[in-house]
Amino acid sequence: MYYLLEYVLVTPNFIVNAIVATLLALVPPGGHVVTTTECYSEARIFIRERLSKMGIRSTFVDLNDIETLKAVLDQGDVTLFYTDSPTNPHLKCIDIKLVAELCHLKGTLVCIDSTLASPINQKPLTLGADIVVHSATKYIAGHHDVIAGCISGSQELIKTIRAWHQDLGGAISPDAAYMIIRGLKTMALRVETQNRTSLRMARLLENHPKIEHVYYPGLKSSPWHHIAESQMTGFGGVVSFEVASDLHGVMRFIDALEIPFIATSLGGCESLVQQPAVMSFWGQSDEEKAKNGITDNLVRFSFGIEKFEDLRDDILQALEKM
Ligand SMILES: *Cc1c(COP(=O)(O)O)cnc(C)c1O
Repeated sequence: MYYLLEYVLVTPNFIVNAIVATLLALVPPGGHVVTTTECYSEARIFIRERLSKMGIRSTFVDLNDIETLKAVLDQGDVTLFYTDSPTNPHLKCIDIKLVAELCHLKGTLVCIDSTLASPINQKPLTLGADIVVHSATKYIAGHHDVIAGCISGSQELIKTIRAWHQDLGGAISPDAAYMIIRGLKTMALRVETQNRTSLRMARLLENHPKIEHVYYPGLKSSPWHHIAESQMTGFGGVVSFEVASDLHGVMRFIDALEIPFIATSLGGCESLVQQPAVMSFWGQSDEEKAKNGITDNLVRFSFGIEKFEDLRDDILQALEKM
């Protein structure tokens, strides 16, 4: 399949610009957006709370529940299906080719947030998606020093989105654009290293007595492995895992780590670590966290490009100190 590709680079805030511009441009009043329950929280909030004020309906389906997705699409009024794949922080994957086929049968556009895969590991447009969004903040820029977003798709769709994006503002600054262009030159090298380190660490952690569960689509034990394997060429730098401890034990583990910075974000040269329950999902109620699988002992690692042995030794010593 051949695509005429276009893209828009947006900043300063990826979510406000890329996703909002895409949704406002493509969904008419009275439209209906379907998204998944583990998609990026700011997108979810925009879809549920802001679009509803414009008379746009939203339906949330479980990413694994293709039967419910089909039933919702059968209503015939769904303008756009929007999801992340893989998702954060559990790295769940959706069969992009399958959902694109199902959606297109009903005239529904498909938009994939492919940030966690990186453009190196997954190419949703070639799998049938209509629009792909990336947080360029992550793997594309790759150095944790710029915030930007990117939207790709056919010239026709991007023309519509670009008009909205211009109205909404948020043109990228020359500095940010320069840093992204510079980062792009090493993206393939960085991502290959991150893929390799993450897979090795995920396998090692899976067999560690102090680790209860590892979430990584590259692991054969992952429920999403078969889908990931069919549509990704690598599984990315994010590995999440549950440590056999409680909230404070995990804090001790994280504090004992010497290499990674404690921070949100992902995909850059430096490894980052965070505890979703008290960081990126802090704002959610205990009930919401439980529903979303955000346990107190969940750790999300974003592996950088440091030497594998150094990262391994650091994690092992920190688990001993926990
Ligand atoms: C980080 C992230 C975003 C938001 O991107 P920013 O560039 O930080 O605004 C959106 N979607 C996913 C999947 C992300 O990981």
